[in-house]
Amino acid sequence: MFSYHHPVKIHFGPGIFSELYHVLEPYNFSSFIIVMSNSQIDNGLDRLVASQFGDDVKDVVTGITPNPTLEDVRRIVTVMEEHEADCLIAIGGGSVMDAAKAAGAVYLQSIDINHLLEHTDFSESLPVIAIPTTSGSGSEVTPTSVISDEAHRLKVPLIGEGLYPEAAVVDPELTLTLPAAVTAVSGIDVICHALDCLGSAGHNTISDALAVSAAKLAFENLERAYHEPMNTGVRENMSGASLMAGVAVSQTGTAGSHAMSYHLTSHYDVPHGEACALTAGEWYIVNAGANLKLDDHARMIGFEDARDLKRGLDELKLATGLAMTIDDLGIDRGEMKAIVERGFEYRDMKNNIAQPDQAEVLKFLSEK
Ligand SMILES: [Zn+2]
Repeated sequence: MFSYHHPVKIHFGPGIFSELYHVLEPYNFSSFIIVMSNSQIDNGLDRLVASQFGDDVKDVVTGITPNPTLEDVRRIVTVMEEHEADCLIAIGGGSVMDAAKAAGAVYLQSIDINHLLEHTDFSESLPVIAIPTTSGSGSEVTPTSVISDEAHRLKVPLIGEGLYPEAAVVDPELTLTLPAAVTAVSGIDVICHALDCLGSAGHNTISDALAVSAAKLAFENLERAYHEPMNTGVRENMSGASLMAGVAVSQTGTAGSHAMSYHLTSHYDVPHGEACALTAGEWYIVNAGANLKLDDHARMIGFEDARDLKRGLDELKLATGLAMTIDDLGIDRGEMKAIVERGFEYRDMKNNIAQPDQAEVLKFLSEK
C-alpha cells in the first residue's frame, strides 16, 4: 500500500522566466521579497524581475552561502518582517531555495531561529515560488530544506509539508550560464536522488517510474551538458531529469548516499552532489541485494545490472571531474570511521531498503 501526494504546481518551459509575471498572475500575490544568488544578479535576473513586477518587489536578499546557514535564514526573515510581503520568490540553486523555504516557515510559524535545527513541526510557510537556476537539488518540488549551523559544524535536513514551495517555475534557459563544475556537482545529485529513491524503503510504483526516467535522462545528458553548456536540448533534458528526481524523492526521502554526504559537506566543504556521489554506486549495489528489482531498474536506465550501473556512474564521475575516492577529496583516511559514524546518525540511513552495519559501510568506503 502507498499514498501519493504532491502539492507543488509546476510550470516548465524554455524562456518561461521572461513570462514570470503572467505565470504568477493567477496566484494573486501583491508584494514579493526576492531571494537570489549573486551569480543571477550578475546575469541581470534581478532587473528582469523588476521590469515585470515593478513596485510589487519590496526587497532583494542576496549573498546566501553555498550551504545556507541559520544566519542566512535570519537575514531573509528580518527583511520579511520589515515589509510584510505575501510571497517569497527564490531564484537560484538548492542553497537559495532551501534558505527561502526555511525562512518562509520561520516567518509564518514564528519559529525561534536559534532552535530551528531542533524544530520538527514545519506544517506551514509563507508561499514560496521556487525558480531553480541549476539542474540538481530538486528543492523546487521537495518538502526539504537543508540548513547548516556553522558554529557547531552541523548540517540538518528539515522536513515538513509546509516546506513544499507553492509553485516551481523551471526554465532550462537559466542553466545555460552554469560553469562546468557546477553543472557536474548539481547534475550528479540528480542521479543520487534517483538512485536513493529506488533504494529507499518508501519507494513505490510512481516514484520508481519517475526515478528510472530521471536517472536515464541524467546518465544520457550530463556529460554533454558539462562539455556543451549552451546546448539547449541537453539543458532541457537535465532540467526535466532534476524535476522528476525531485518529485520522486519528495515521496520517498533520500537514503544512504545522502546520509553519508552531510558530514563530508559540513566538515570538509565537499559540494553536496559530489559528496553524495562518492558512495551512491555502492549503495545501489547494497540495496539491490535487498530488492532484486534494482537490477531491472538498472536495465531500464541503460545498464546490465546494479554493478554495471555503478561502473557507469564511476565513468561519468571521471568524465565530469568529480572525486572517485576519499583521497581525491583531500581527506585523511584516518577520518573514515568518524565519517561513517556520523552518517549513521541521520534518518536517511534508516531509509535504505538494505540495512548494512557500520563495518560494511566502512569497508566499501575504504576499498574506494
Ligand atoms: Zn541531494
